[in-house]
Amino acid sequence: MKRNNSKSAYDEALKYIAGGVNSPVRSLRSVGEDPIFIRDAKGAVIRDVDDNRLSDFCLSWGVFILGHSHPQVTRAAKEAVSRGTSYGIPSLPETGLAKLVNRHIPSMERIRFVNSGTEAVMSAVRLARGYTGRDILVKFDGCYHGHADHLLVSAGSGLATISGSSSSAGVPDRFVSCTVSLPFNDSASVEKLFLERGNEIAAVIVEPVPANMGVVLPGAGFLEHLRAITKRYGSLLIFDEVITGFRLSPGGAQQLFGLSPDLTTIGKIAGGGFPAAAFGGREDIMKLLSPDGTVYQAGTLSGNPVAMSAGIATLTLLSTAGFYDKLNDKSASFIAGLKRSIEGKAMVLNSIGSMFTIFFSRGEVNSFEAAVSADRQEFARFFRYMLQSGFYISPSQFEANFISAAHSAKELKRFVKAVEKFN
Ligand code: PLP
Repeated sequence: MKRNNSKSAYDEALKYIAGGVNSPVRSLRSVGEDPIFIRDAKGAVIRDVDDNRLSDFCLSWGVFILGHSHPQVTRAAKEAVSRGTSYGIPSLPETGLAKLVNRHIPSMERIRFVNSGTEAVMSAVRLARGYTGRDILVKFDGCYHGHADHLLVSAGSGLATISGSSSSAGVPDRFVSCTVSLPFNDSASVEKLFLERGNEIAAVIVEPVPANMGVVLPGAGFLEHLRAITKRYGSLLIFDEVITGFRLSPGGAQQLFGLSPDLTTIGKIAGGGFPAAAFGGREDIMKLLSPDGTVYQAGTLSGNPVAMSAGIATLTLLSTAGFYDKLNDKSASFIAGLKRSIEGKAMVLNSIGSMFTIFFSRGEVNSFEAAVSADRQEFARFFRYMLQSGFYISPSQFEANFISAAHSAKELKRFVKAVEKFN
């Protein structure tokens, strides 16, 4: 595979952009590659600046459930652009998208649009603290909620010690002193913390199906326990559905599991490929936001009309009867084939709906501890092999891969065949 143009694009980028990339994982460093620069994308295929065509299973980290450049989404965005690209004054598409979000995810009774998942989570956490008048935030090891200071907490911070150390230079330990990170799928540790400090806990935030340690499924009763215990202690439950929202079902993970969190964050799919995300939830909580209430939150480009219009077009297409049945059926037969293709190998496949991760591991992967014990070198070799075979998978052992409506059965079969031949 020729990569000369990507190489020179990277050399040039390095002169002006820190690390040559605008988000670290794009550097492909952990898989022993240099960044690939993309020229264009359509359907399930991305084309790089060297004219290599790759079947895309990363899909901009889960954004493109319909595939890249869907004609209806593109048309909606183009039409919006022609009406002006930002007003800083309310516009109709904001309410249009809010209505659609609420129809899909009824627990989001009131919504605020922001520009990124990081912003959505940061705002939801501030609101939860403002509402409860409490400081402590509980999260789970291996769940990622964006790069706000108080969420960059090292996994494995002690249970009773509030709390761990920051996982990034530049974040004083004091800034994470009100964040506790507990092991995912460990209800006993949650119970213990609530027994000791329950009245100080503002909220528990969780990816209902974590995708940021690779896909890891919640164990039976884990999420239900979080719902019950937060209710019992007057803390809020925040589902971070930036990835799972509109991915696992029209109403995200909460619909799939029949649970209603107090607050929800969404992003990725919701903006149809434009920078948009949102947080929302119970009306009595959301009304604490400025201008009605005392919790401050704002944004120059929030509710941007182009992003809102692309979001409306996307959610409208997702509302087509049978969309999720079709996508999930296609995914299920792909996953069944993939399972057969790794039989007998030191590989474990975790999946749900149209999301999956192949771990280079022998045992079950149901916790962060198990995920980090996977063989990253072997994953890196697999990534490079898949790339050579024409597939762009998410470039880290600790990420999810995604299937879109645009992936053909033939393409999915080719993927399975490639994995079968990997040795
Ligand atoms: N929450 C989750 C679950 C995510 O996966 C991500 C990013 O991948 C974020 C929050 C942060 O979103 P963004 O990258 O848009 O800031």
